[in-house]
Amino acid sequence: MKLDVNVLRYLSKDDFRVLTAVEMGMRNHEIVPSELIDRIAGLKHGGSYKVMKNLLKHKLLHHDASKYDGFRLTYLGYDFLAIKTMVNRGVFSAVGRQIGVGKESDIFEVATEDGKVLAIKLHRLGRISFRAVKSKRDYLRHRSSYNWLYLSRLAALKEFAFMKALEEHGFPVPNAVDCNRHCVVMSLVQGYPLVQVKQLQNPDTVFETIVGLVVRLAEHGLIHCDFNEFNIMIDDDEKVTMIDFPQMVSVSHRNAQMYFDRDVECIFKFFRRRFNLSVEEQTAESDGSDVDSDEIRPCFSSITKVTDSLDKELAASGFTRKDQDDIEKFIEGDLEDLGSDDEGTAEEGYTFDATNDADIRHLDSLHLVELIGTCDEKGESEKNQQFAEAEP
Ligand code: ADP
Ligand code: MG
Repeated sequence: MKLDVNVLRYLSKDDFRVLTAVEMGMRNHEIVPSELIDRIAGLKHGGSYKVMKNLLKHKLLHHDASKYDGFRLTYLGYDFLAIKTMVNRGVFSAVGRQIGVGKESDIFEVATEDGKVLAIKLHRLGRISFRAVKSKRDYLRHRSSYNWLYLSRLAALKEFAFMKALEEHGFPVPNAVDCNRHCVVMSLVQGYPLVQVKQLQNPDTVFETIVGLVVRLAEHGLIHCDFNEFNIMIDDDEKVTMIDFPQMVSVSHRNAQMYFDRDVECIFKFFRRRFNLSVEEQTAESDGSDVDSDEIRPCFSSITKVTDSLDKELAASGFTRKDQDDIEKFIEGDLEDLGSDDEGTAEEGYTFDATNDADIRHLDSLHLVELIGTCDEKGESEKNQQFAEAEP
């Protein structure tokens, strides 16, 4: 997706006020009636209508007049709200080129005021590229299109929380800088995804490091679940960094063993194919008397040193048990499918009817905190408080 950040420069305070009003209205409307947007935004002399037209022109809003005259946010609109919030917080001040397109994300370079380059990941859970389209549809059939935004937000929150906790435990991951809505800001990893690397000086060492990571994660109670050559970065010194955490599960997950084995197998398969590494097929459990112990495939049941400290840290960083349950329900189908080579076709902009009260209630508190917490201009906080209360 093209993110035309030049638009950001031309958007006024009123534009953002109306955009935020639409976001708030989407808590309980799939399409937010224009009158409600006008009421929440509270611009003088019906100014909101002109602004809505402008936002529509820039594709930050989608117009729908099928049942009544109303609007909803587009992903682009949501991107701009997140980016604006980050810019206001001083996290970065410019957005640069796109550096990655994931299965359900877009990655851009951003720069701080003093010229440091970071990366942002914009989660897009609505952009389905897995085979699990059907299971997602079933899950979301009775939910509003806002749930795409809600789930993308959860994915970002989860990724941020895991990245931070993993970093604190000495895992080679990007430095987690900040998180807002569906956007995670992190350090820029030097190097390339392993899939692009044709040659290594020390393939054995890199292989051992990578397999060691799967084991160490499990010892900390976690399984990556999408551990492969696309989510492992490697720099010129052959230093390894792992990325992409929204699908991680606990070792207590009912399919934990399968996910663990699959992560290990992905690495074995890739190194065998790409670097002709003659890695052993036998597991630690089998009778491998002639097997070099260094090359034994790690076995899930032999992981003993499990600590649960990460769980506590994750909760402390704002990612709750309910968040985990919600996102797990959604990614269930994906988890099964991640190991498959078969990628389905993208279905962009799939929308759903009706609403889900539980999600909406959950969202309410998060949004208000965010809205009030992010206004940085004098007197804005008070105004926004009223602004937040204006909605029925
Ligand atoms: P997805 O969850 O959609 O697969 P990823 O987190 O794997 O997204 O990111 C997609 C791609 O973007 C990666 O394969 C990598 O090339 C690039 N990328 C992601 N994060 C970073 C980062 N912090 N620094 C540099 N490149 C990154
Ligand atoms: Mg990835």
